[in-house]
Amino acid sequence: LYVEDGLAEGRTLGLARDQAHFLRSVLRLGPGAKLAVFNARDGEWLAEIEGLGKGWCSLAVGAQVRRPGPEPDLWLVFAPIKRARIDFIAEKATELGCSLLQPVMTRFTAVSRVNEERLAANAREAAEQCERLTIPQVRPTRSLGEVLDDWPAERRLIVCAEWGAARPIAEALQAVRAEDQDEAQKTAGPWAILTGPEGGFAESELDALRKLPFVIPVGLGPRILRADTAALAALACWQAVLGD
Ligand code: SAM
Repeated sequence: LYVEDGLAEGRTLGLARDQAHFLRSVLRLGPGAKLAVFNARDGEWLAEIEGLGKGWCSLAVGAQVRRPGPEPDLWLVFAPIKRARIDFIAEKATELGCSLLQPVMTRFTAVSRVNEERLAANAREAAEQCERLTIPQVRPTRSLGEVLDDWPAERRLIVCAEWGAARPIAEALQAVRAEDQDEAQKTAGPWAILTGPEGGFAESELDALRKLPFVIPVGLGPRILRADTAALAALACWQAVLGD
C-alpha cells in the first residue's frame, strides 16, 4: 500500500478513506492483518492493522523490508486517446518503470480533456500491484509545442512515428548504448518516449521534431500499432535494451 507519511518502526499511521475502504471492504482484512506499506523516500515496511472501521484505518509500522533504490528516469510523453485506453497506458507504463507521464495535445489529438487525477490513481494502483516503490508523476496536459519548448536538452527523446525510413527502435537504442559506452557516459541518463494520437503526427510536427538535437526517430515495425500498443511496445523495448 502506498502511503505519503514518513515510515519508521513503531509509528502509527492513519490511512486515507479510499485505502481504508479497500482494506476493509475489498480485501476484507481486519485488526491484526499484516501488509506492506511503501513510499519512494522510506522504502517498504511491514505493518499491522491496529483498528479499522468505515472510512478509517490505523496501522502500526513494523520492520523495514526494502530500502529505496535507484529507479529509471524514463518519461512517457503521449497524445491522449480515449479513456479506457489511457487507463491501459498509465497502468502498463507504471509496470514498465516509467517515472513520469506527460499527456500532450498534438494537431490530430481527438480527445479534448484528460483526467490527470484518474491517470494518477491508475498509476498508484499499478505501482502497488507490481511492487515498485515509486509512483510515476503525472504532469498537467500541455501542447506538444510547449513541452518541446521547455525540453531539458540532456533528456533524449525517442519519437515513435510514421517516419518512413526510421531505424527500428531496438537497433537505434543499441546504437546509442554502444556510443555511450565508447564515451564512458552513463546510459542510465534521462530518457523519454513520445507516441502520437490515433491519427498520427502531422507532417509539420514531424518536421519540427526532426530538427531537435535530442530527438531519436524510431520505427516500431512494419504494422501500424494502436497508440496504446505503441507506447507499451516502445517502453518494453527501452526496458529490454537499456533497463536494469
Ligand atoms: N494514423 C496513423 C497512420 O496511419 O500512419 C497511425 C497512428 S498510430 C495508430 C498512433 C501512434 O502510434 C503513432 O502516432 C506513433 O506514435 C505510434 N505508432 C504506431 N505504429 C507505429 C510504428 N509501426 N512505428 C512507429 N510508431 C508507431
